Amino acid sequence: MKKIAVLGSTGSIGTQTLEIVRNNPDLQAVALAAGSNVDKMEEQIREFHPLAVCMWSEEAAADLRARVSDTNVRILSGMEGLLEIAVFPQSQVLVTAIVGMIGIRPTIAAIEAGKDIALANKETLVTAGHIIMPLAEKHNVAVLPVDSEHSAIFQSLNGEAGGRSIEKILLTASGGPFRGRSRQQLEHIQPEDALKHPNWTMGRKVTIDSSTLVNKGLEVMEAKWLFGVELEQIQVVIHPQSIVHSAVQFVDGAIIAQLGVPDMKLPIQYALFYPDRRPMGGKRADLFELGQLTFEKPDTDTFQGLALAYQAARMGGSMPTVYNAANEMAVKLFLERRLSFPGITECIGEAMARHRIIEVPAVEEILETEKLTYEYILKKEHIC
Ligand code: NDP
Repeated sequence: MKKIAVLGSTGSIGTQTLEIVRNNPDLQAVALAAGSNVDKMEEQIREFHPLAVCMWSEEAAADLRARVSDTNVRILSGMEGLLEIAVFPQSQVLVTAIVGMIGIRPTIAAIEAGKDIALANKETLVTAGHIIMPLAEKHNVAVLPVDSEHSAIFQSLNGEAGGRSIEKILLTASGGPFRGRSRQQLEHIQPEDALKHPNWTMGRKVTIDSSTLVNKGLEVMEAKWLFGVELEQIQVVIHPQSIVHSAVQFVDGAIIAQLGVPDMKLPIQYALFYPDRRPMGGKRADLFELGQLTFEKPDTDTFQGLALAYQAARMGGSMPTVYNAANEMAVKLFLERRLSFPGITECIGEAMARHRIIEVPAVEEILETEKLTYEYILKKEHIC
């Protein structure tokens, strides 16, 4: 029996993780955490019988306690509760499916407690990769990618020493709903347009990030940490069909890729059972039906979020935190219709331009940088 804890169990990745638990009797979800969705959490408690659960706000936790008083589940709240779920004694693997930098402290705590990490929360590696990866090595724990592209790279590398034999990582991107449009055509994009991803159904924030290509920028930084490669070795490839989930080109020129229909359950399951492959139902990629797969270079003039990500990663230190935090706040404002679509990448560029880099930021400095960046974006005058 493999026992897991899930941070963000009520979200897109979290609920798909629990679907895998439902279909595999040798998996057990012993601890769960979420933000405020008490209805969903009550359902999950009644179906999966976790031993402990955390809700971010004490109010949501109190509501949940009253609703499930007929069960033995312990209900926790706040960062203290999140940390307790992360290091839950009975769990072996922590699935980090929470959104944002709030995942940093629980991920560090879990690594220190010897838990393997199934990592969906890319923001953790983007901002604190220099802390997380050496710590994981020190505690001999695995950081297993859940992001579909990184899982594809991980699967392509399977059995290889990785590192020195990698010539290039080919990180694929669908291009999002606005592929092929000019900068001018992006000016009047509304949240409902950006929330329509052509191939994937995901949480709101990551869907907006896919439409700006900022998600790909974050993934470039995630790949750099996960696979220990230089930025110049990571090539973003626009592949609108989302069938090739990414590939590795090795030093002898061979390219190994992982292909399949867009379905996050495969990378989640692969991370949970690695190195085993388990049967999984569902649709298969039919190459005859697909007919052809196409590949293009990304348009970084129109989608400047990707170019800014390379810039932030090259500058390093606290700059990726600024990139990530500026984007997070700008996406929130865009969803509230207080910022235009091009305003998202403008905010990132402006926040980066005024930031003085901290070379090797500690966790407190990362979180302080996040806070200052949020404040800066909120003060900007072009936000109505
Ligand atoms: P969702 O928005 O669907 O879910 C986020 C989850 O985090 C919810 O369970 C939410 O709880 C919880 N949460 C939010 N704030 C807090 C908090 N303060 N304390 C505890 N829990 C909190 O996001 P996704 O599942 O789409 O994304 C999760 C992560 O995975 C992101 O980092 C994303 O980039 C990454 N990812 C997602 C992919 C996808 O297909 N969705 C693909 C690859 C990576 P509640 O709803 O109860 O408030």
